[in-house]
Amino acid sequence: MLELTELRDRRDAVMERIAGAAARAGRDAAEITLVAVTKTWPAELVIAAHAIGLRHFGENRPEELAVKRPIVETALGVDNGITWHLIGPVQSRKSDLAAAHADVFHALDRSKIAHRLSNDLVRFGRTLPSFIEVNVSGEATKHGFNLVNWENDATQRNSLRTMIRKTAELPGLPVMGLMTMAPWDAERDLIRSVFHRTRGIADWLLAEGDVSHALYLSMGMTDDFEIAIEEGATHVRVGRALFGEREK
Ligand SMILES: *Cc1c(COP(=O)(O)O)cnc(C)c1O
Repeated sequence: MLELTELRDRRDAVMERIAGAAARAGRDAAEITLVAVTKTWPAELVIAAHAIGLRHFGENRPEELAVKRPIVETALGVDNGITWHLIGPVQSRKSDLAAAHADVFHALDRSKIAHRLSNDLVRFGRTLPSFIEVNVSGEATKHGFNLVNWENDATQRNSLRTMIRKTAELPGLPVMGLMTMAPWDAERDLIRSVFHRTRGIADWLLAEGDVSHALYLSMGMTDDFEIAIEEGATHVRVGRALFGEREK
């Protein structure tokens, strides 16, 4: 694990890159949330990152979040100012862990999970603002709502609209935005087009009145967060650039 001084240097370097990308796009860097991805790292790293001022943390597995969050809360108290982002998909049988421990969910892609989460959230008296994960490239992952051909395929557009409408009707699960992942190792032009087209979906939904507020956009990781910011990302999910290579 990193020393605090190195952690601070890495954080500063990432913040500078965020500021640079925002400036190139004529955007205010303050509107971009850095979600520090701590998956596979111990709770001690979250505590160290909190000490240097980071407040948004991302975990990709509900069971790991369910272990880590209580350790951090024992160390820092429950009013520690941290927002926990669950950035990976949730299986049905893990929905209760996600509902109990996540503050924001980035990978909602099935109505079955939306229903499970909503039931659990009502039970726990919690709210979980969520990003719907969309897949516009067909390559990156098997996850995400299929919108590979959304510009030309009314069926794809309509199923997203239905998902958004039905999710909005569920208690505890407000739709916060769209999340996407660029294909692994792709050319920069393709990565850019994935982010650009995802932004296009958000703009289209707003113009059509399917959503009443501009959607947030969770796009960009260590290798591509600057492109994502240039294309409108409001949340970047960065692990390795902050914390180094993961061991597992
Ligand atoms: C691991 C992960 C990240 C962070 O990846 P880095 O390459 O370490 O920045 C971002 N988003 C998701 C969904 C992840 O699983």
